[in-house]
Amino acid sequence: MGFTKLIDAWPVVRQLREGDMLGTGKSARSPRSQALRPRIEDADKVTHSICPFCAVGCAQLVYVQDGEVTQVEGDPASPISRGRLCPKGSATKSLHTSPLRETKVKYRRPYATEWEELPLEAAMEMIADRIVEARDSDWDAENRRTLALANLGGATLDNEENYLIKKLCTALGVVQVENQARI
Ligand code: SF4
Repeated sequence: MGFTKLIDAWPVVRQLREGDMLGTGKSARSPRSQALRPRIEDADKVTHSICPFCAVGCAQLVYVQDGEVTQVEGDPASPISRGRLCPKGSATKSLHTSPLRETKVKYRRPYATEWEELPLEAAMEMIADRIVEARDSDWDAENRRTLALANLGGATLDNEENYLIKKLCTALGVVQVENQARI
């Protein structure tokens, strides 16, 4: 590179020459950065969604290409989050695509040192049996409740899921119902 070209490529010179005093416009670009394309450019469609992690409810845009989620970004149209997502919300795509995501029921029997995989139906039967057993063993007939069971919800539960969980707990006589999602 000749001396003149070297000087011309110097960011300060480019800032002054191009009137880009903050250095955030043209002068900050390189041939490499100019060749970069947004990863959402080839998306087939974009769907509006809400971040499932906490009660703030930041709005998201979910980009899909060939039936796969390719990117999740903040939705600038939201009056709540105005396009922003915290690190958890920004990582939402991995909820769909991470190879570390568990998709099978894992069970470790009492005293076992290894996890085993269970069919979902078998796991649901085990949970139902234990709920019935615990409730029967501690049923307070006078107050029509049990203290042997409790429910702790998670931040990724949405309003509808929480509604159904509370309804189920009330029907079972479970009075200890909590959720860790609060700001
Ligand atoms: S986890 Fe972060 S991005 Fe998601 S709703 Fe809460 S604050 Fe918003």
